[in-house]
Formats: sequence, structure tokens, C-alpha cells
Amino acid sequence: MKLESYINGQWAAPGRDFIEVRSAVSGDVVAEATSGGLDMRGILGHARNTGGKNLRRLTFHQRADMLKKLAQYLTERKDQLYKLSFQTGATRTDNLIDVDGGIGTLFVYAGKGRRELPNSTFLLDGAVEPMGKAGTFAGQHIITSLHGVAVHINAFNFPCWGMLEKLAPALLAGVPVVSKPATVTSYVAHALARMIVESGILPEGAFQFIVGSTGDLFDHLTCQDVVSFTGSADTSEKLQRHPVIAKEAVRFVAERDSLNAAILAPDSGPGTPEFDLFIKEVAKEMTVKAGQKCTAIRRVLAPSAYVEPVIAALRERLDKVVIGNPELETVRMGPVVGLEQRRDVLANVKALRTEAELVAGDPDNFDVQGADVTRGAFLPPLLLHCADPIRATKVHSVEAFGPVSTVMGYSDLDEAVALTNRGGGSLVASVYTHDPKVASDLVFGVSSFHGRLVIIDRDCAKEQTGHGSPMPQMVHGGPGRAGGGEELGGVRSVHHYMQRTAVQGSPRMLTGVTGSWTKNAPVIEKDRHPFRFHFEDLDVGQTFYSKERTITLEDIEHFAHFTGDTFYAHMDEEATKGHPFFPGRVAHGYLLLSFAAGLFVDPDPGPVLANYGLDSLRFIKPIQPGETIKVRLTAKEKSPRNKQYGEVRWDVEILTDKDESAATYELLTMNAVRPQA
Ligand code: NAP
Repeated sequence: MKLESYINGQWAAPGRDFIEVRSAVSGDVVAEATSGGLDMRGILGHARNTGGKNLRRLTFHQRADMLKKLAQYLTERKDQLYKLSFQTGATRTDNLIDVDGGIGTLFVYAGKGRRELPNSTFLLDGAVEPMGKAGTFAGQHIITSLHGVAVHINAFNFPCWGMLEKLAPALLAGVPVVSKPATVTSYVAHALARMIVESGILPEGAFQFIVGSTGDLFDHLTCQDVVSFTGSADTSEKLQRHPVIAKEAVRFVAERDSLNAAILAPDSGPGTPEFDLFIKEVAKEMTVKAGQKCTAIRRVLAPSAYVEPVIAALRERLDKVVIGNPELETVRMGPVVGLEQRRDVLANVKALRTEAELVAGDPDNFDVQGADVTRGAFLPPLLLHCADPIRATKVHSVEAFGPVSTVMGYSDLDEAVALTNRGGGSLVASVYTHDPKVASDLVFGVSSFHGRLVIIDRDCAKEQTGHGSPMPQMVHGGPGRAGGGEELGGVRSVHHYMQRTAVQGSPRMLTGVTGSWTKNAPVIEKDRHPFRFHFEDLDVGQTFYSKERTITLEDIEHFAHFTGDTFYAHMDEEATKGHPFFPGRVAHGYLLLSFAAGLFVDPDPGPVLANYGLDSLRFIKPIQPGETIKVRLTAKEKSPRNKQYGEVRWDVEILTDKDESAATYELLTMNAVRPQA
């Protein structure tokens, strides 16, 4: 199979230079990747001029729907990806992480895009900031899609998840993608890319796929592009040093290697559930994907007194791991990705063995099921023990990217923290304790060196998602050695492909630009109540001023006894003497809200279908019996939802008859669209 790139809306004819890609299991050639010869400037141009424009026309909700359709399309075809992935050494469980995990990430982003982003093409960031006493000048931050390209360079270990977890936030942000897989597993990524293209779900130019070298692509990057790289620290450093990256200040997200730690706490000795969870997790992280996970546990920290039982328990577990052909149901661990990778791992183990002793596994003597050990890139799990981790350096810096971990003892929590942080910045650490105080000491000791921390104990044992699994809702990345990048984390990563801009001007201008009514901007008064307008006929700024209502002591008493809220500030004049907030008995805040609704609601059936909540409620001035209130209700924002209705956000202010603000909030309603003739 000759692997082609997908560029400028078509599959490129294979070039002349081929790289043979071999099966990790049998060593046979499974594909040939073409390297080089592509017009990188043209590829970026197609993404910017066609893909970017097509995506930016869509709202966040439309892009989210696209992701959901794509996820459904891929789900129906995932068995094809499984089949190919076996050749990379991945077992069925490994494929669950790579293939299903990748598709699941698309689903999560589709859901988040719908629920957490507006149905528009840009975001408002924070509230309007008033910047003048008279209210004629203000500022609002907006977040808009970059007009460039998301260049995604992936590592070999997760050809599907790696591509999809980067694709989802970029497309949701409205930025087209050029995706480059690692060559050694590019036949799996290629199959996935073919499915994405054949689905026809993404607009033209939104997705391109490069097999082989990136050629001179970096020479043509601009300040509007984002490079998101996953791979080794060496490659990352090389790419980040490209002069165009510095000159154009191209955003560069780096996800690199990492010496992640698992920390067994002093309260979790043998016999506790946490000890068992720790052993299970370390063994799992060593063997899933044959340890080729950036998040795998490389350093196993335990109180010195527990080091021996930890090694004994791990040895017992690892001895049972069946190694071999990943297609077999009985096989727990497949080979590493190729013979070169195997050589790298063994070289790094050799370096580690200058500071640590091999205590489980023998690379020269182990059984393999259903495959030829001399042809595949097989390794057994290799457990080391470092007796002097304080003086050692390699165990904290050499990443053997295979089924390899090193156990090390610590004397107290301070030492555990210091050793953990010797990783120089890691993607993840996990802590095994049932004591929140111990967890707190460890979390605050190591958090600034880590992107993610998992606290595992008996309470969450069944549901915990694991040390090594980045979840789309939570950030993935880490400082220092781990690359200093951040991915995932829900909509946080959508922002990585967007620009925050402070826009300053008069309230009228801000309203006109953002489509969100801003205080002190002109209002629109019409002859009918705003609740009588269908969604598309309602103008932002349309306002209703209510009549007034005087609050009596009887109202307060009635409300108190009716609802059961007889809090002293509403009932007991004596008790409010000297109170810092209340000058005497005051009306309930909820009474004010209820009266406000009574003042502004237009009761007859009409386009307003439902009130579905309040945001940003503040009670500003207490209202005493005898005072008079009134309400201003202004349509602030409109967000289309579907063919039947849209969401309207109303700016509501409860005022006294002297125009003092008593309460402010935003009211959310669903308004019907005009019935089609
Ligand atoms: P790698 O050798 O650094 O390669 C990573 C990617 O960079 C591949 O797509 C590779 O393409 C590409 N690349 C290499 N040289 C390049 C160049 N000069 N210009 C443009 N692209 C270039 O890493 P790997 O061996 O694939 O992955 C293993 C490493 O990745 C481990 O260290 C692991 O810890 C790390 N990793 C990190 C994460 C994370 O999220 N932090 C996730 C997974 C893996 P070719 O294959 O075509 O050379």
C-alpha cells in the first residue's frame, strides 16, 4: 500500500522516494510512505483561503454538529482501524484508547461546543469594563478565530487519538487543519484520514493530510498559524528553533516526553486498598501500549519501608503478563512499534542500569505467544530499582519509551515531593492515599511541576479513569520537560486557536460590533411589549420599562410565611440594629425578583416559550417597607438554537423610584421563531 497525502482537495500522486513501513509484529513491510516533494506553500494557502473561510462562516454550534456527525461516521467504521492497528503492536485494549478514545474526544467536543459555546462565530470574554465616569467609554474583550492554519504533528504511539484530539478543538475554533502523522504508524493515520475525507462532512480545505516530511512548510508559517507538536523533546526543540517560529511569533504547542511519577503515600502500606490500586496502576501503565505512552508511569515512588513489598507485588503481577501477537485475545502486551524503537528502549535501559538494578523481566529471555520473537519488536516488562534516587540523575531524566519503570524509595513527604519534581516538569503524577491531608501536601508540593494530578483511593477505585488517560474535559500537557504546552481541557483548547482582543469604544459602538447590548447604549422602545416579538423580530436593545410597585410590611410578612423564609433581617427590626448591611427590616431578595417578574411579564400566550434561568444575580441595595421599585428589561443577546426557538438573554435592572439600582441580573428565555407561512 502506497500512502498518499491529501492536499488541495485531492489525494496526491505518490512521489518518487519511498520509506518502507514495517509491521511491529512480523517485521513485514505493510506500507510505503512517500516523502517530500509537496508544495507546502500551496497546501497552507488552500487551508487559509478555502478551509479557513469555509469554517469561519459556520457558527460554533454548526461546527459542533459537524464533529458529532464525523464521530458517528467513524464509529461505524472503527473495526477497519482496529485491524490495521494490530500491526503497530496495539492490542484490543490499546485500540480502545487510541481509536475509541479519539472518536470519544470528538463526541465530547461536539457536546461542549453545543452546550458551552454560543451559536455565533466569536466569543465575548468577560463583562464590559466601564472606563469613564459618564459611561460614554467602555471595553469588551472578544475572542475570534485565527485566520491561519493548525499544523498538527503527531507522535507514532496514538495515530488516531493523536490526530482527533488535536482536530476537534481546531475545527471547533474555525481553523483548518494540516495533519502530519509519524511515519512509522502512518498507515493507520492514513486510513483514518481517508475516512474523514470520504465522509464529506468537513468543508473543502478544512482538513489536509501530509505523509512523510513537512519539507519547507515551516518557512511559510505566519502569526496566524498554530503548530501543535507531539513527540520527543529533541524534535520539539529543533522545530521550535526554526527562525520563522521566532520571527512570526507562531504559536507553538509542544507535548513532549515526560518522567511521570506514581506516589504511594505512607498511609497506604501493604494490605490497604490503596496499595493494591497502586500496584495495579503501575503494572497497567507499564504494559498498556507496551509502555509507549507519554503519560506512562516511569518513576514509582514508595516509602522506603514499602519498597520491597512493592517490588514483590509488581514482579508477581508482571510475571503473568502474556506477551505476543496483539490480535490474540489472550495477549496482554504487544511489541513496541518497531525494531528501531526496541533498540532505543534497550539503550535507555542500559543507561538506567548504571544507576538502578533490574529487578523484574529479562530482555534476553521471555516467552512470546503467536509471533516470532526474532522478527517482531517484542520486549518484556522491565522493572528497575534505584537505591539512591537523590544522587541519581538518569532515572529522573532518561525516558525509556517502552514497558520500563523504576522503583525508588523516599523517607518523608518532603523527599517524595523533591524526587517527583526532579522530573523537571511532567504531564501527570498520581497519588495513592486515603488521607486528604497527605494528598493536599503532595498536590501542593508537586502541582506547579505538573499538568495533571490524579488522586486514587478506595472511594473512586471503580470509576477513576487512570493515571495515564488524558480526558478531553481535563487539560493535557505539562511544564518544562513535558513541553510547556496544554491541550484538551474542554473549551480551553478551542481558545488556543483564537485571538483575544480588547475592543474599546462607546457603549453604542460596542453594542453594534458585538451584537450584545451594553449598559448606557441606546435602547429601543416599541409600541408593543418585547415579549410579543418572535425571535427574529426582536431587536437587541429592545426595552420595556415597568410601572412602579411599593413594597409593604404586609408583603414581606406574607412572603416570609408563605415561603417559610423567616430570616431575622426580614422579620425582626431589633435584630438588625447595628447590622453592617441592613438599615432595618428589609424585603427578601427573592421577593424583589418575584415582584420584578410580576412587573415585567406580559402574561398572554405568545412567542416567549419559557424562562430557563438567571445569570449574574446581584442584590445591590436593600429595600425597606414603604420603598418603591420598578424594572427595566432590555434584550441583551440573541442566540439561535434550532428551527423552533432561540435563546434570548435579557439585561434586567430593579430600580428604586429614585433610580438607584437595587438588583441586576440576566434573565434567559427561549423564544419561538416566527411560524413559517
Ligand atoms: P518524534 O520522533 O519526535 O516524532 C514526532 C513527530 O515529529 C513525528 O510525526 C515525526 O515525523 C515528526 N518529525 C520528526 N522530525 C521532524 C522534522 N524535522 N520536521 C517536522 N516533523 C518532524 O517522536 P515519536 O518517536 O513519534 O514519539 C515518541 C515521543 O513522543 C516520546 O518521547 C513520547 O514521550 C512523546 N509523546 C508525547 C506525548 C504528549 O502528549 N506529551 C504524546 C505521545 C508521545 P516522522 O515520523 O516522519 O519522523
